[in-house]
Amino acid sequence: MKRRTFLTASAATAASAALPPIVLAQGTNPVTAPWTGPFGGVPAFDKVKTADFKPGIEAAMDELRREIRAMTVVRSAPTFENTLVPLENSGRTLDRATTIYGTVSGTLSTPEFREVEKDLDPKLTALSDEITQNAALFSRIETVYNNRDAVGLNAEQKRLAWQHWNRFVRAGAKLDNAKKTRVAEINKRLSSLFVVFNEHLLADEETHIALTEAELEGLPAPIRAAAAEAARERKLTAPGAIVNTRSSVDPFLAYATNRTAREKVWRAFVNRGDNGDKNDNNGAIKEILKLRAERAKLLGYPTHAHWRVENSMAKTPENAMRLMEAVWPAAVQRVREEVADMQKIADAERAGITIEPWDYRFYAEKVRAQKYDLDMNEVKPYMQLEKLREAMFWASGQLYGLEYSLTSGVPVLHPDVRVYEVKKAGAHVGLWYFDPFARAGKRSGAWMSAYRTQEKFNRPIATIVSNNCNFVKGAPGEPVLISWDDAVTLFHEFGHAIHGLLSNVNYPTLSGTNVARDYVEFPSQLNEHWLSTPEVLNRFALHYQTGAPIPRALVDKIEKAGTFNQGFETVEYLASALVDMKLHLAGDADIDVDKFEREELARLGMPREIVMRHRTPQFGHLFSSDGYSAGYYSYLWADTLTADAAEAFEEARGKYYDPAIAKKLHDEIMSRGNTVDPADQYRAFRGRDPDTAALMRKRGFA
Ligand SMILES: [Zn+2]
Repeated sequence: MKRRTFLTASAATAASAALPPIVLAQGTNPVTAPWTGPFGGVPAFDKVKTADFKPGIEAAMDELRREIRAMTVVRSAPTFENTLVPLENSGRTLDRATTIYGTVSGTLSTPEFREVEKDLDPKLTALSDEITQNAALFSRIETVYNNRDAVGLNAEQKRLAWQHWNRFVRAGAKLDNAKKTRVAEINKRLSSLFVVFNEHLLADEETHIALTEAELEGLPAPIRAAAAEAARERKLTAPGAIVNTRSSVDPFLAYATNRTAREKVWRAFVNRGDNGDKNDNNGAIKEILKLRAERAKLLGYPTHAHWRVENSMAKTPENAMRLMEAVWPAAVQRVREEVADMQKIADAERAGITIEPWDYRFYAEKVRAQKYDLDMNEVKPYMQLEKLREAMFWASGQLYGLEYSLTSGVPVLHPDVRVYEVKKAGAHVGLWYFDPFARAGKRSGAWMSAYRTQEKFNRPIATIVSNNCNFVKGAPGEPVLISWDDAVTLFHEFGHAIHGLLSNVNYPTLSGTNVARDYVEFPSQLNEHWLSTPEVLNRFALHYQTGAPIPRALVDKIEKAGTFNQGFETVEYLASALVDMKLHLAGDADIDVDKFEREELARLGMPREIVMRHRTPQFGHLFSSDGYSAGYYSYLWADTLTADAAEAFEEARGKYYDPAIAKKLHDEIMSRGNTVDPADQYRAFRGRDPDTAALMRKRGFA
C-alpha cells in the first residue's frame, strides 16, 4: 500500500507496503539504510547521492519480493495475523527508499536524477503489479476479507481487510492471465509517460522571460526585487526576469502596467508544454488517455473516470459532474459581473481596450481598490512568512494543543529546509519539515508529503510530514513577504500536515492523509479559515518594518472583500475540473488534446476572458501520475464539506476557537485517518450530512 502522499501534487509512485527494520546487505547505502538519529530515526538526506538510488531501490524491491514470498508459502489457513499483519510490515525498506527518492524528485531534481527516474519508475510500477497480481497472495487476502465477520475482527481491522482486498481487486487481481499481463504493460508504459510529462513541464518552468525597465513598470518593490534577483541568478543583462512559474507570473500579471509585457508573460505561462517543441506534452497526453481508457475496460469499468471515482466520496463521475454543473452557471454569471466592473474602469481610464485574459488580474486589483477600497499591496507588508508560520503554530496550539520547536542537526536536502519537533502535552507527536522557497529542480506549486506515517500496531511510530512551497526569496536579510493568497496556501498545506500529525490509528495503510481524494482536501481547506480570524491577524499580521499589527479597518476590508473575484477563481478551477472529467469519460477515442480542450470549453460557455487554471498540456495533477486524474473535482467536493464545517464554527459561541467543536473535529476527523468511512466521519462531526447550500454561501453565489 502506498503510504507516501503528495497532496496537491504527485511524484514517482511506489506501490509496495509497510516498513520493517530489516538491514540489507548494502546497509551502508543511505537510500536503504535504517533511519538513525533522533526522533526514532530521520532520513539521511545529507548523505544521499544520485548514484545510490538505482542499487538501493532495486535491493529494496528484492527485499519486498522476498517478504511477499514468505507470506505466500505459509501452510496454515490465512488469518489476519499471518496475512495482513505481515503485509502491513512489508516493504519498509522500500518505503524509506522511495521517500528519499520522491523528495529528491520533487524538490531537488537534476537531469542526472531524471535519467534514474526513467529507469526506476517503470520498475517500481511493475513491482506493484507483480504484487497485486500475485494469485497466492490475493487468495489469502480474500479469505481473510471473506471471514472478517466470522472471526470477530474489530472495526479498524475489518476496514484494513477491505482496503487491501479492494486495492487488489481494483488493480486486476481477479483478471485472467492475459488481461493481467496487458494491465501490467499499460501501467509500465504509463509510468514512463508520466516521467516524460514531468520532465517537459519542469523544463518549461525553468525558462524565463527577460524584461526591460519599461516592461517592469508598476511592480511593487518586493516583486520588482525578486525579478531583479531572478535576472542576476541567471546572469542576464536585462534588469529583470520573470520565471515561468505561477508564483512569479501571477504577481506580475496583477501589477505590471505594460500591457504588451503582460501579454508576453501570460502567453509563455499558459503555453507551457504546448509549444510544438521538444517539451511539448500533447503526444504524451494522448497516449496516456488512450492507455487509461483501455485499462479501465480491462478492469471492467466503462471509463477511467468510473474506475477512479468509485472509491471516493462522490462514488460516480455523474455525482461529481452534478455538483460541478450546479455551481458553474452562478460562477459564469459572476464572471460577467466582474468583467463589466473591470471594463468600466478601463473605459473610465480611456484605456481603449477590451478586457483580455492578460488583463484580468491587473484590472481585478483595480476593482478591488475601487469597490472595497482594498489594495493588496497595503496588506502584503503585514504578511511576513515567518510570522505566518508562527501563526499556524499558534492556531493549531489553540485548537489541538500542539507545540513546536526548531530542531538542529536533523539532515536536510537543502539549507533552506528547517525541521520542527511537534509535541502535545510534552509528548513527541512528530516532525514537520518546512521547505518554503522556489529553486531550480523543485516542482512548482505547494504540497504536503508524509515521509513516515503514524502507526502503533507493533509499537508507536511517530509521523514525519513536510510542507513544500515555492515562495520567492527576497533580498538577503530582508523578511520574506508573501501575498494574501500565498498565506492562504500556506495554511492549506499546513492543514494537511496537521491531518498527518494528529493521526491516531493502528495500521499505516489507514493512517493520516491516506484517505479518499475528495475527502483529503477537507481538513486542509478548513485550516485556511484560521488565517483570517482576528485572533491570528492581530497577533501575527505585523508590519515588517514597524511591527504594528494590521489595522482593524484593513481587516474589515479584507473580510468585506471575502467573496471578491470568486467568479474568476471558481471558473478557472471548474473549467479545469470539468475538462479533466470529460477527458477521462471520453473512452478510448483518439483525442487531439488542444482541439478537445477548445471544444469542451466552447460547449461549457467558458468566458473568453479566462483560461483554465491548468491547461491540459501542463496539468500535472492529471498527467504526472494517476494521482488526481478524474479527481480534480475533489477540491470542490471537499469544499462543500469545508463550507458546511466552517459554519459549525461560526455558529459556535467561541467561533473558530470553540473548544468543544475543535475537540469534535479532532476526535471524529483529524485523528481518524481512514479507519472510518469519510461520510461517517463527517456525520459524527456535524450530526448530519453536509449542506451544499453552505458552499454557495461561502463563494457568494447564494
Ligand atoms: Zn491540498
